[in-house]
Amino acid sequence: MPIKQDCILDYAQTAGRRQYTRLIREHLAQKYDAPPLALVHSFGCQQNAADGEKLRGMLAEMGYGFTDSLEEADLIVYNTCAVRENAEKRVLGTVGALKHYKRQKPELLIALVGCMTQQQSIAERIKKSYPQVDIVAGADAWANLPERLYGALCLGRRSIKAADEEPDTIVENIPTRRTGWPKAWVTVMYGCNNFCSYCIVPYVRGRERSRRPEDILREVEELVGEGYRDITLLGQNVNSYDGGIRFPELLRQINDIPGDFRIRFMTSHPKDCTRELLDAMADCEKVSKHLHLPVQSGSDRILMEMNRRYTTEKYLELVAYAKEKMPELALTSDIIVGFPGETREDFEKTLELVRKVGYTALYTFLYSRRGGTKAETLPDPVPPEEKSRWFRELLEVQGKIGEDYMERQVGKTLRVLVEGPGKGEGMMTSRTDQFLIVEFPGGPELAGQFVEVEITSAKNWALMGRLAENF
Ligand code: SF4
Repeated sequence: MPIKQDCILDYAQTAGRRQYTRLIREHLAQKYDAPPLALVHSFGCQQNAADGEKLRGMLAEMGYGFTDSLEEADLIVYNTCAVRENAEKRVLGTVGALKHYKRQKPELLIALVGCMTQQQSIAERIKKSYPQVDIVAGADAWANLPERLYGALCLGRRSIKAADEEPDTIVENIPTRRTGWPKAWVTVMYGCNNFCSYCIVPYVRGRERSRRPEDILREVEELVGEGYRDITLLGQNVNSYDGGIRFPELLRQINDIPGDFRIRFMTSHPKDCTRELLDAMADCEKVSKHLHLPVQSGSDRILMEMNRRYTTEKYLELVAYAKEKMPELALTSDIIVGFPGETREDFEKTLELVRKVGYTALYTFLYSRRGGTKAETLPDPVPPEEKSRWFRELLEVQGKIGEDYMERQVGKTLRVLVEGPGKGEGMMTSRTDQFLIVEFPGGPELAGQFVEVEITSAKNWALMGRLAENF
């Protein structure tokens, strides 16, 4: 269902937000000789990293500069992640240690935003046990952040609130300070309706809502005009995008934007990955021939327990169709090892599927229990040491497949986008269409350009090469 017009807010046009931004700016100019410094740190996924760029944009507009140093910071913003319980513990540990900084610098402001703080229980815990925190705002609190920061900064008012007062909205035109040139993220949809049994995202990010295609197209056009060359469309479940047109059509319309750039997208759910989408990928020359399609397990029984709503047969059919349409396609995936109730037999089915598909890379996770999810309640008899052994076995199998794939690239000439300085002296780093890293000797003037590189050798993490003759 396309989002209703009245659920779309325009950050730039809202008087309240303009007014608080101006008041904060004036306050900071009076109080500080030079712009005060904010430290913004995002935990977790690309969506959070993209949100972190918006936080920076909003703070820059209010008059903040930026630092990575805790000692220098006048404002610390942690953009938190709820996906893993360990990540939550890490954030709370880090915030605990900030007590010391606050004692040394009482005017220091500390704000926690993002998925983790969307949970009522966490907000209450912070309110009670972490008095050094001034602001807690959930994942969609963009609209009210200036007002709440104004309250903390100018009125000394603590503001700890979990869920946003305006849930399930989309806020457009938030100023954004991007940090990844020549790559940029563009969020096309928010939330998730899938309720995979191990995942907390639908509880903290709300229901799916898609941006209007015209807003997305305008943003991509602007980015391309500013020299961005690698645009990643983001969504928790990106191929269920429905902004009045569906995702394959959105890809086609973005592909028609003039300019030399690449389009990537993530994360895809196999149940929403249609032949129509694969056809659009194949037809659109700017759409990268790389598909991240998380399978999670090779056992149908475990997929059912995970509430993934596809079978391995359906998944392999999609993979076969995708490879037929795009022989150069690189496939990557996420796999969870040790889901509650997984047996050795189930795990072996995962190994078999991994061998069949031939992924270029895998993002593997040992199952980690997540409070508030359905999987939390399932019996989990396999000891952690056994799960760790399976995990290492999977890494070994994938390591060999990945190595062979990298070796097969040696001798080819590949078109790459140069991203910036590489690992060694005089080296530049770049990415192929298939998302492989290529390092080669070159100068900084090449950053942001597409060039051709002859691949001379392969390491497990990158290909090494030299600029092709015509460059
Ligand atoms: S698709 Fe599943 S794993 Fe992905 S965010 Fe939604 S519930 Fe979580």
